[in-house]
Amino acid sequence: MKKTGLLIAGQWESPAGHIVQEVVSPFSSEPVGEVVLAERADIDRALDSAVLGSHTWRKTPAHERTKVLLEAARLADERQEELAQIICKETGKSIREARGEASRAGEIIRLSAFEGAHRYGQSLPLDANLGTGLDKVGYTIAQPVGVVVAITPFNYPSLLVLHKVGPALGAGNSVVMKPAAQAPLTASLLAQCFLDAGLPEGVLNVVNGAGRDIGAQLVSDPRVNKVSFTGSTAVGEQITKVAGVKKLSLELGASSPVVVTQDADIEQAAHAVALGGYINAGQVCISVQRVIVESAVEDAFIEALTPKVNAITVGDPGKDETMVGTLISESDAARVHTAIGQVVSDGAELVTGGERDGAMVSPAIVRNVPGEHSFAQDELFGPAVSITTAQDLDHAIQLANSTRYGLGAGVFSHNMDTSIRAMREIDAGVVHINWTPLWRADLMPYGGLKDSGIGKEGVRTAVNDMTDWKTIILHSRV
Ligand code: NAD
Repeated sequence: MKKTGLLIAGQWESPAGHIVQEVVSPFSSEPVGEVVLAERADIDRALDSAVLGSHTWRKTPAHERTKVLLEAARLADERQEELAQIICKETGKSIREARGEASRAGEIIRLSAFEGAHRYGQSLPLDANLGTGLDKVGYTIAQPVGVVVAITPFNYPSLLVLHKVGPALGAGNSVVMKPAAQAPLTASLLAQCFLDAGLPEGVLNVVNGAGRDIGAQLVSDPRVNKVSFTGSTAVGEQITKVAGVKKLSLELGASSPVVVTQDADIEQAAHAVALGGYINAGQVCISVQRVIVESAVEDAFIEALTPKVNAITVGDPGKDETMVGTLISESDAARVHTAIGQVVSDGAELVTGGERDGAMVSPAIVRNVPGEHSFAQDELFGPAVSITTAQDLDHAIQLANSTRYGLGAGVFSHNMDTSIRAMREIDAGVVHINWTPLWRADLMPYGGLKDSGIGKEGVRTAVNDMTDWKTIILHSRV
C-alpha cells in the first residue's frame, strides 16, 4: 500500500503524531494508500520552503529549468502505467480513461517547459509619445510571480495538477501544491517525477488535507503571490473572500449546455453526447449536463442517443472492458440518484438509466426537464443528461445562457448562419461547433465566464498568468 507524506524542502516527511488518513477505493471500499495530513505549522514550513525555492528557481536560467522539466516529462512518460493505475484506484475512474489521462502528463510538462522558456517581451516605441525623443529606450521583461499555491479537485488528479504545476515551474515560480483529499497519491507520484528530474529543493512542495482545514491558511498567506484554484464555485467564492490582494485564477463549476438544432447531423450529435455526458461518470467540469434540442428533431435525437447510452459499460474500473467506473464516493452516487428521482417526481421522464449500485450510477437520460429546474440549473457532476425542448434557435440560446455558469458549450448545426450566431451569443469560455464541450487540447486557452471562474488555463495562458511583466525605461543624459 502506498503512503504519501508531506513534501517540504525537498524531503518527504511523515512527522510523528500527525493524522494518517486512508485513501479508499470508491469501487471496493478497500484502502489503496495512506496520506499524512498537514497541520498549521507544516503549512507554514511549506510556505517558508517555497519562498526559498522561488529565489533559487528564479535565478536558474530558463535553459536549465527546461532541462529539468524535460527530464520530469520523460519520467512521467516512463511511469505512465503506474500513474494510470493509481488514478484508477483512488478515484474509481475506468482504467482506459485513466490511461488516457496519464498519457497527457509528459506532454503538458513539455509544453510548460517550452512556453516558460520563451517569454518574449516588447520593445516600446517611446518616441511616439508626445514630447519624448530618441534619448530613451523602453521594453518589458518577464519575471516569475514568486510563490504559487495550487489547489486541485479530485476528478482529473493528474491533468489538473499538471496544468498548474507545469506552467508555474516553467515560468520560474515555486509551488505549494494541495491536491484533492480524495486523490493525493497521483499528485505525489507526479511530484516524485520532478524531484527525480533534479528540481532543486523547495521549488515544489506538497501538503495534504481537507481544504476546509488548511485551505484558508494557504490562500490568505501574504508569502503567496498567486493562487491557482480548480474546484467548485462555492469554494472559489470562499477563496475570493480570504485571499487578499494577490493574483487569482479560479476554474470553477458548470452546467454545460449542448444545443442540437434542426439542421444538425443527429447521428453525430448523439454520438458526441453519448461520450460527453458520461465520460468519468459525468464528473467533468465540461461534461454535457443539458441538451437543448429543437422540437422538430427531439424525438429523432433521443432515439439515436438512447442505444448509445445503453451500450456504455459501467463496472469495475480496473477491468479493460469497463467504459465508466464509479463516482468519487457512494454518497456522491446517492446524491446524483436522488437528484434524478426528484426531477422525475417533478414531472420529467426517465428515458434510461439512473440506477445506483454502491458508488456507481447507470448512465441516465432524462427528458422534458424544464430549463429552470434545479436539475438543469445546478451542477450535477454525475452521469445524467437532461433534455429540454427549445421552440427555435432564439429560445435555445436563451436556455443555454440561463444558468449562472459559462464554462463550455456545444452547438450542433451545419448551417453557417446558425453556427456563427450561436458562437457569438452563447456565453461560455469555450464554444464548440459540431462537438460537445467535453474536448480539450492542453495548449488552448481554457476557462469559464460568469460563475464558472476567473482567468484562463491552458499552458501558454497559465504561464502568462504566472508571470509578472516589468516595464524598463533607460534614460540617457541628453
Ligand atoms: P471542491 O471545491 O470540493 O474541492 C476542490 C479543492 O479545493 C480540493 O483540493 C479541496 O480540498 C479544496 N478546498 C475545499 N475547501 C477549501 C477552502 N475553503 N479553501 C481552499 N481550498 C479548499 O471540488 P471537488 O469536489 O474536488 O471537484 C469538483 C468541482 O470542481 C466541480 O464543481 C467541478 O466543476 C470543478 N472543476 C472545475 C474545473 C474547471 O476547469 N473549471 C475542472 C475540474 C473540476
